[in-house]
Amino acid sequence: MAVIRDVMPAFELLQPGSIAEAQHLLEQYGADAWVMAGGLDSFDWLKDRIKKPKVLVDLSGVSELKGIRATGEGIEIGAMTTLTEIVKHPLIREKYRLLAEAAELVASPQIRNQGTLGGNVSQDARCWYYRGGWPCYRAGGNICYADTPTGRNREHAILHAERCVAVNPSDSAPALIALDARFVIRTPKGERVVDAEEYFIGPDVDITRLNILQPGDLLTAIRIPSAWAGAQFYFEKVRDRNVWDFSLMNVASAMAVSGDRIDRIRIVVNGAAARPLRLKAVEEAVRGKAANAETGEMAGKIAVQGAVPLQFNLYKIPLMRNLVKRAIGGVQEALWVS
Ligand SMILES: Cc1cc2nc3c(=O)[nH]c(=O)nc-3n(C[C@H](O)[C@H](O)[C@H](O)COP(=O)(O)OP(=O)(O)OC[C@H]3O[C@@H](n4cnc5c(N)ncnc54)[C@H](O)[C@@H]3O)c2cc1C
Ligand code: SF4
Repeated sequence: MAVIRDVMPAFELLQPGSIAEAQHLLEQYGADAWVMAGGLDSFDWLKDRIKKPKVLVDLSGVSELKGIRATGEGIEIGAMTTLTEIVKHPLIREKYRLLAEAAELVASPQIRNQGTLGGNVSQDARCWYYRGGWPCYRAGGNICYADTPTGRNREHAILHAERCVAVNPSDSAPALIALDARFVIRTPKGERVVDAEEYFIGPDVDITRLNILQPGDLLTAIRIPSAWAGAQFYFEKVRDRNVWDFSLMNVASAMAVSGDRIDRIRIVVNGAAARPLRLKAVEEAVRGKAANAETGEMAGKIAVQGAVPLQFNLYKIPLMRNLVKRAIGGVQEALWVS
């Protein structure tokens, strides 16, 4: 392992006290500024000397960005609300349990105490090569080191890869898409509210980013409408170790059922592509069908259509098929059965 003897490159630390002040600083410094929330992803990049911003805009003093509020249409969660607060919040536990379950499976208690919802959905890819400073496509170069016969690609994408095969690492992101959340973004041109699904992008849109945020933008809040409050939820995360580990893949679904029939459903998988994938073909295919093992089986097969494995991640195809199957049919079978 390399020994780093020099000190970290210097940056100016700016600590705004309001959204307006934060936004002003982000506009002023543009691409030279780095937004810092809980710092868990940010500090890795800075300490490894891979990202070298001139200024750090630390949001920890912006109280307007913190907290969970009930609104007429549902709830609004400030971007700087910690994952622990989300896990513990009575209204989220009662009506939007899917998000509490996803947040509770993120990393460790210490990381959830410090990590924020805004940071969790905006965190960068965890590809070894990119995190190690290799000059790959995502870093602005013209090669993917993971997509080679000997590349370390066990954790990488099986769907919608385009030159870069990294995946989105967030556990809260698929739950928010399943809950049909909206992301509130302050941009230099004014406020923009986008569907959770639109917040995340793949390499076909921009290979250097996992979300739509541009320099100068600030994610301020996430709104969850009441349309799915109290629905039948399913969240499952598969990881190598049962603590302190990122998902190899996860599934989040919200389902409204009449009798045993599926009326409405939103189902999302993360860890299969560079963005959390909403499985619209599955949603359409299972509508009106019984929520049972047979429907789950059919849904799982549809979900993996078009999947292309890399050298070391073939296992992700049966994994995804079975996660979708279990989300719909609730079948408790061995995950590795193909
Ligand atoms: C050891 C370890 C294990 C982990 N395991 C998991 C896991 O299992 N599942 C999981 O989902 N996550 C996991 N994480 C990620 C972690 O949970 C945090 O959510 C994540 O690192 C970022 O949250 P943060 O609040 O610290 O944000 P930061 O690190 O400060 O920010 C992350 C990114 O988001 C941007 N950003 C943050 N807030 C805003 C905002 N309001 N507006 C615009 N941009 C913003 C920052 O500029 C930065 O690029 C893990 C992290 C570590 C270190
Ligand atoms: S998968 Fe993406 S992030 Fe990883 S080496 Fe390839 S281009 Fe870079």
